[in-house]
Amino acid sequence: MREGQPRHSESPGQNIEKEKKRASLNELFSEAKDKIIDGVFFLLSKTDPHIVAHEKRIKKSEKIGKMAGDFFEKLIPESLHKPDKRYRHPPREDVFNDIYRTRLILREAVAAGSRQFYQAAEQAVLKPEMQTEESQGRLFEKESGDYTTQFIVKSFNQDGGENIIKEEVLNSLKPGDFSIPSSDLIVANPTNGFKIDLGQLLPKDFKFEPPEMSKIEEKKNPLTGKVKRKVLPVDLRTYQGTKNAPDNFYALMGAKIVGYGDLTKKGGFLSLFHEIAHAWQEAHHDNFARSEFEEFQKTVSSCLLDISIGKELLAEEEINQEKFEEVLLKPNIDKLKELGVEFDLESFENSEREPKEGEFKIADAAFQEKFYIIKSEHLTELIGNYAREERDAWAHAIRVLRFVKKQGMDLEPELKSIKDIREMIDHSLGTYQDYLDEIVDSNEEVRRFVRRKKEKE
Ligand SMILES: [Zn+2]
Repeated sequence: MREGQPRHSESPGQNIEKEKKRASLNELFSEAKDKIIDGVFFLLSKTDPHIVAHEKRIKKSEKIGKMAGDFFEKLIPESLHKPDKRYRHPPREDVFNDIYRTRLILREAVAAGSRQFYQAAEQAVLKPEMQTEESQGRLFEKESGDYTTQFIVKSFNQDGGENIIKEEVLNSLKPGDFSIPSSDLIVANPTNGFKIDLGQLLPKDFKFEPPEMSKIEEKKNPLTGKVKRKVLPVDLRTYQGTKNAPDNFYALMGAKIVGYGDLTKKGGFLSLFHEIAHAWQEAHHDNFARSEFEEFQKTVSSCLLDISIGKELLAEEEINQEKFEEVLLKPNIDKLKELGVEFDLESFENSEREPKEGEFKIADAAFQEKFYIIKSEHLTELIGNYAREERDAWAHAIRVLRFVKKQGMDLEPELKSIKDIREMIDHSLGTYQDYLDEIVDSNEEVRRFVRRKKEKE
């Protein structure tokens, strides 16, 4: 409205003025309408930045995990310890895929025989948005025959950042007998809306498990040294979640399991990715270096234990020389020769003696307090492969972490510098070196060999 117009009287001139005003109001309104329509059409067009951004977020969330999994696979042939098996990675179902999730939960519900369980679990899992605060979750449980199906969703804030870690744990419990746990792990960044389904980073058939939910009883036969393992039942009610869980990360090759400790702490995801890298190595190797090394130790020490027992029996005149050679000495020497192992029959058990040039002192796989001195070039190679395999797993883990960060998900907000990462790896490699020291004592030359390989990292 223009100002200074008379309002108290009307004249023909004023009527014209009014018409003009109406006209101009009309114009104004229609201009505004055009603007609004333009605006709406602009919003309806494909270029609406809000829609585009949101679509990108969802697509990207689905893709970050897949891309990171693919990256792990591509990195394996680049390893120092080269793969010896072809592996084809089948597409893995994404936890963000509602149809897949519904089917999965439905399957569990059918197994548990409960519609109620299904509905409750569906509600907890298919919530459109990630929880933005910590939650201990509610336990869903259904008994069916001897089995109890348990399910819980827990959410935790990651230290030093804004990420939310969501843990969905499923447990099939046979009370008094055993239990089978498994987890889906999802990380979300509430600020940029990105999410990552960590299951997408695993090779075929691998799954995550919380170590706290997986208790194994080991019983050692004092005579043979053989260890019997039994899975114990663990109730999901006792599980506190990943936060404050013990520092326990592992990859179980045969069982195809990756166990995780505290993912909310600094270095948690670096450790997890390191174990995931080992899972990928397993997928690409018939001969996994660590297993080969451990198998070697087991076989060699069991042969030498036989000979050692034979020597005792002979000394106590329980058996004669002929029997000793025929039954205990010759078959074991043959086996050891096949493995490229030499030893001195008189002094291989002398654990006081320091290993000489080219010799190793290895622990008995069954009786760790027993040591044998052997000569083996093959062992040098096995330890070398093992060291390279370890180095590869760290390299792959760091690369994939950096890749994921570039896509918008910083999973290690507290590992800011190279120094931070180095400290984390040093700590873990220290454990690995301790492990080697515990089972293999060698002359200076081989020690340097292992260290030299490690220093290249
Ligand atoms: Zn490792």
